[in-house]
Amino acid sequence: MSADISAGTRTQLPFTSIPEWARPTTDSDGNTEIPAPQCTGSSYLLVGIGPAAAAVTSAWAPALAGVPGRLIEAADADTAVDALAAALAEATVGVRVLLTGPIGACLSARATAVAAGVEDDEIQVVPVGSGPIDVFCSHCRTITTADAGLDAIVDCAGCDRGLLVYYHVSRRSGSFLGFMADAETTPAATAPPDNPSQESPA
Ligand SMILES: [Zn+2]
Repeated sequence: MSADISAGTRTQLPFTSIPEWARPTTDSDGNTEIPAPQCTGSSYLLVGIGPAAAAVTSAWAPALAGVPGRLIEAADADTAVDALAAALAEATVGVRVLLTGPIGACLSARATAVAAGVEDDEIQVVPVGSGPIDVFCSHCRTITTADAGLDAIVDCAGCDRGLLVYYHVSRRSGSFLGFMADAETTPAATAPPDNPSQESPA
């Protein structure tokens, strides 16, 4: 996700519903050290989404070698969500979910895990690569998938409004909240001019 966000949004980030791993980072050195996998459960489901995920899944393979579990490799978020939902339906208590891939895809997969009853502390996410995010329209409730980041404007696929990508993420759907970008400035823009007489020459 782009780190090109407003100062106001940046100050709000620590207090938002956006998980820490999904927030834009300020370090620009591009140094992405892969953390160790959390395999404290009885088994694991490792979901790698997109081509960049292989770097993480292969790095984790040695640590996970002695733990029961399986690797799900998916090309995109939709495939990952379907495969994860099917795997979780058969999973036993104590399963840990490990997710790696683009932020938008990881948010969708996390929502799937949450819906299946997996707790937040049983889900580990390592974002890699880039991909689209889902934006929920607060006006018509359509979800638009777009390559965008926080503070960006996305055209709603349902009502065609220009939606500002707001710093709120739904745990249930994994989508960002979007609302009409100029909703707060429209009243001022449509206010009557200071000198109406110029508009209506008599
Ligand atoms: Zn809409």
